[in-house]
Amino acid sequence: MDRRITKQVRVGDVTIGSTQTIAIQTMWSSALSEYRDEQSFQELLTKLRSYATMGCDLIRFSYPTIDEHEIFSRICASSPMPVIADIHFDWKLAIDAFACKAAKIRINPGNIGARWKVEEVIRAAKDHDGAIRIGLNGGSLPHHLRSGDHARAMVDTALTYIDWFEHLDFDRIVVSLKDSDGETTYRANTEIASKLAYPLHLGVTEAGGLVSSVTRSTWILGRLLQQGIGDTIRISITDDRIYEIEAARELLRTVGLESSGIRVVSCPRCGRSTFDSQKFLKQIQVRLLAIRHPVTVAIMGCQVNGPGEAAHADIAITGIGNKVFLYEKGTLVREVALEDAESALFDRLEAFINEQ
Ligand code: SF4
Repeated sequence: MDRRITKQVRVGDVTIGSTQTIAIQTMWSSALSEYRDEQSFQELLTKLRSYATMGCDLIRFSYPTIDEHEIFSRICASSPMPVIADIHFDWKLAIDAFACKAAKIRINPGNIGARWKVEEVIRAAKDHDGAIRIGLNGGSLPHHLRSGDHARAMVDTALTYIDWFEHLDFDRIVVSLKDSDGETTYRANTEIASKLAYPLHLGVTEAGGLVSSVTRSTWILGRLLQQGIGDTIRISITDDRIYEIEAARELLRTVGLESSGIRVVSCPRCGRSTFDSQKFLKQIQVRLLAIRHPVTVAIMGCQVNGPGEAAHADIAITGIGNKVFLYEKGTLVREVALEDAESALFDRLEAFINEQ
């Protein structure tokens, strides 16, 4: 698939744009103030490391007050992936985020205020070797534009802001245009993609819970990605962040933009099942996502149809009652007790990957 040719923007040790791998992002869901004590801070780092292992490339934190300077600096220094600060309204906070060593900030210049304030932020980005995402949402457009076509309004507004940045000879820009209406998001991104050469961050804002968000995001972002549009993505879900990372990876894989990592094939279960494939898949999900080698794993609910349906998987597991059966390339290789299913599966996976 041909990707849109854009400028390449460095965000810490991740480069965004053109032929670079599409970067997966998520956003931390709790306030920075919760991580001032050592134990909470270490728990945060453990979670960030697991996100990184699952394939998350960039993490964004809301940075709402300078009172969090110390903890945010600590997070920026310790995070396993580049940190982005989400800033609203306060230009001094945006500057302080770079002082904390955020690799990028996300601002809507419209709510930062006067142009000179935005220009001070741009100068700080230059001084700190940082990048800036110009992030516009349909819901935060200037009042006089809210009743019209949000897609056109977001494109025109973004182009005006980009002039401010280019006027200061700053080009480490990523642009995002999001609306809670998926088709508006789609139109805004196809249009802006034809008008500028900066990388685009894709997302559908306020997309809802797991099913709603994944369905809407897949429909909207999938069509953009198929046209080569999009350089970073976030599947915004009102749920655990691991679903955002998993959904983004699955989308990129389905569109053909990523080949690494586990592809899970699992049956939906039916009355024939005596092996709880749903529970087992949930139990091993995080471990599976941490595997970056391209392997197809099948989790099937019964011994009647499971092996046949899983014949094309590299490794498959199915069971009857308290026994499970492991298959490699369709051939039965091991039978173990149910309580040993997880360790047996991962032992087999490790051996399979090492043999490749
Ligand atoms: S593999 Fe077995 S349990 Fe799963 S859907 Fe098919 S018949 Fe039902």
